[in-house]
Amino acid sequence: MPISCGVVNCRNRYPKKAHSFFRLPIVITKQGEVTKEMSDRRRRCWLAAINRTGMSETVIRNLRVCSAHFISGKPSALYKDTDPDWVPMVNMGYAMKDLNTQVVRHDRLKKRKETIKKRDAAMSLVELGSFSDISGGDAEVYIDVDSKLTDLELAQLEISRLSGKLQQADTEIARLQNDNLKLIEEKESLTSAVHKMKATMPGDFANDDDKVQYYTGLKNFVTLMALFNLLSSEISEAKNSSLSKFQKMMITLMRLRLNLSIVDLSYRFGVSRSTISKVFLEIINVMNKILSPFVQWPDRDDVEHVIGTHRTVRQNFSILGATCPIDYLITKSEDESPILDKMVTVCCALTNLCPSVVSFD
Ligand SMILES: [Zn+2]
Repeated sequence: MPISCGVVNCRNRYPKKAHSFFRLPIVITKQGEVTKEMSDRRRRCWLAAINRTGMSETVIRNLRVCSAHFISGKPSALYKDTDPDWVPMVNMGYAMKDLNTQVVRHDRLKKRKETIKKRDAAMSLVELGSFSDISGGDAEVYIDVDSKLTDLELAQLEISRLSGKLQQADTEIARLQNDNLKLIEEKESLTSAVHKMKATMPGDFANDDDKVQYYTGLKNFVTLMALFNLLSSEISEAKNSSLSKFQKMMITLMRLRLNLSIVDLSYRFGVSRSTISKVFLEIINVMNKILSPFVQWPDRDDVEHVIGTHRTVRQNFSILGATCPIDYLITKSEDESPILDKMVTVCCALTNLCPSVVSFD
């Protein structure tokens, strides 16, 4: 025999659709007062939720509610009356405001019929979270939903609805916490990636000699800081400059070492191309002035050593092996040497800052 769902506007039928169907809870009378009260209250809540008027006893006896009207797909256990599935509440075929209209109508009727004292008692019990039957314990099986819905039952419906919302909120919170964890992990991995690429502060190189060597050609962090201390007082630092002295030195060293273009460096350090050009020229001049005494030119007789040194310097500083801008060959005055000469001197000096590969003894 086909079974159909008794909820307004629900077209789920058995066996056409894969739904479970649940009978209206019966009043259990042989398992003590608490069970009797709860099963009775539940039955009335179901009838209120189904919200159909004028149902005959036969209709009520054969009434089924399908799984589509429960969050979990089935009713909760009898004693779990705070579970949102204690009463069917999903897609009940009417808006909650319809139910509210019924609540208002019912309230008016009730005000006429009941004493203020009884209502206050019900409210107090609702507030206390106690739902003992205050209607006198009369558990007649069939109830006319329209006129006998008590405050307590309406409160129960509202609690079921709110419990459902609470459960949804809990799920949402769990999802957000999970998302948050993923974002924290992502942030940590990005921070570490950014740190590897950053070359703006001494801290970006501390404990990472491989990084120092890659970006500057210098042997280690100690040598890098020694060089910075040597140059620092000669490097200019304008009040509103967006580049620190250390950054200026790094721009120059990175350009010498990796032959990084002006454009690349302007992106890395977040300044204009012309700033990078000016910084590079300034620091080459400072380095040339301070470091030229460090250059140990090998004896002319020792040709092999000269070639060896030359090779090492070119290997260390890519810019020397690349095509250089014509400006680097031109001088403003005859007394001054071209920037390319200064670059070569600086690169030789920087090579000598490390234990030399060429023995001068
Ligand atoms: Zn249904």
